[in-house]
Amino acid sequence: MSIAIYPGSFDPVTFGHLDVIKRSSTMFEEVVVGILSNNAKHPLFTVEERKDMLEKAVSDIPNVSVITFDGLLIDYMKAHDISVIVRGLRAITDFDYELQIAQSNRKVSCDTIDTVFLTTSIEYAYLSSSIVREYASYGTDVTDFVPKHVAQMLKNKFNN
Ligand code: ADP
Repeated sequence: MSIAIYPGSFDPVTFGHLDVIKRSSTMFEEVVVGILSNNAKHPLFTVEERKDMLEKAVSDIPNVSVITFDGLLIDYMKAHDISVIVRGLRAITDFDYELQIAQSNRKVSCDTIDTVFLTTSIEYAYLSSSIVREYASYGTDVTDFVPKHVAQMLKNKFNN
């Protein structure tokens, strides 16, 4: 059974992430979206809020589920029998970092875990969670970038 995990911060989930999720859901029998609960990053949304907004956003895709994890991704994967990581590549600037992580995950897992990269759809190439947070903090409409329920959660968070 081919299960893939798509890990990230998703703070918040954007149409760029959803594009990667939709496309990978046609390639694997099951896709697990893994929200890293990493306190060092000082996220805008709590893990529970991020899980909530992601679950709503993928509710129409039956083979996608959302989980949260902390600690090492590969430990979670080994414990749950998952051997493929999905990551998105937007630009060459993503590449250096992603290559390093993918190669070290492969090494540390003794070649049992591999990473599959999906290049971004061109209309989302510029999109990142941090850009969305920045716009939303100034009250700019972000409904071109994120689902409506996420835009509403951003409004509530920034009181605008
Ligand atoms: P992280 O903090 O781990 O980079 P993110 O939530 O920012 O987590 O991103 C998770 C994954 O989604 C990464 O592989 C990132 O490259 C990818 N991603 C983010 N935005 C986009 C986008 N607009 N198009 C395609 N992939 C994206």
